Amino acid sequence: MSRNPKPTAEELRCVYDLILRGYDDADILAEYAQLYENGNLMFPYRTDKRFVRERRKELEAASEVLQEHVKKKIDPIVVKRREEHFAQLASVAKSLLANDLESVLEKQTETPVDYTITNQEGLFYTLDKDDLSNRLDDNLQSTFDKYKDWFIKFCFIPHLEAELPTEIKAEGLWDGVINEKPYELIHTLRLLAERKTFNGTCPVCKDWR
Ligand SMILES: [Zn+2]
Repeated sequence: MSRNPKPTAEELRCVYDLILRGYDDADILAEYAQLYENGNLMFPYRTDKRFVRERRKELEAASEVLQEHVKKKIDPIVVKRREEHFAQLASVAKSLLANDLESVLEKQTETPVDYTITNQEGLFYTLDKDDLSNRLDDNLQSTFDKYKDWFIKFCFIPHLEAELPTEIKAEGLWDGVINEKPYELIHTLRLLAERKTFNGTCPVCKDWR
């Protein structure tokens, strides 16, 4: 074992706690010495002040970053803006699910797979995969007409990409996914429209995270 093994997460928590409680470097090493003498030391026996100084430096840097993040998370203006941003993203997801796509269910017994749709009047009908792709394509066009292009391209899509399963993303968004995996795309859109929170960042929200 090296003379200065790396601290475990548990040791870090312990040292950080002592630092925050106002112990100076010598006090902390004295704690190690006392625990060592009593046979209660669970960590490597540290005797070098440099070890404590390193931990102090890490903790200060982490605290600064953490404070900034916490401030943003609870700032009421940012909270409100984030809500509005998420609401707008959710409404784009909803718009892509227009024309009954929100109700689509996979008929797993069929080969090739068919999809059952329920219309506004509660009546069922069936679509195949190409129909789903075409309908998504139509919805995409009408969504582009309804929302600003830049919002869809630079805000909605990065958030959507952050949510799509990796194997779907490989298809290349829009053409690939719409044509090859329409049901999987609908599934993700439906989740986002309902959940109304979004992973990933875009130019609008990148500083709120
Ligand atoms: Zn965003």
